[in-house]
Amino acid sequence: MGYAYYEIYRDGEKIQAGYSVEAVCEEPGCEEQIDRGLAYLCGETPGGDEGGCGGYFCGEHLYMAHEGQHGERCIRCHDKGTDPLETSPDAMVATFGQV
Ligand SMILES: [Zn+2]
Ligand SMILES: [Zn+2]
Repeated sequence: MGYAYYEIYRDGEKIQAGYSVEAVCEEPGCEEQIDRGLAYLCGETPGGDEGGCGGYFCGEHLYMAHEGQHGERCIRCHDKGTDPLETSPDAMVATFGQV
């Protein structure tokens, strides 16, 4: 038995999930047809967890989680998990500005 259909709470709202539930990618402007199976989930736990928001995204809008984390992430949650000192262009500018 898989998890074809179940109901979860996300942000206090009950939504239907599971790979039998048809959905559209939640990335604004994206119309890609997906389902609400774990393969399209941001994070590891339906409804959201510390790593992901619980949104469902198409393959183009999901990114591999950082090392040591599992599952996949939407772009917002992916960015949230990065070290800002290493990747933020603002940090670079600030460093140069102080010389
Ligand atoms: Zn997310
Ligand atoms: Zn998409």
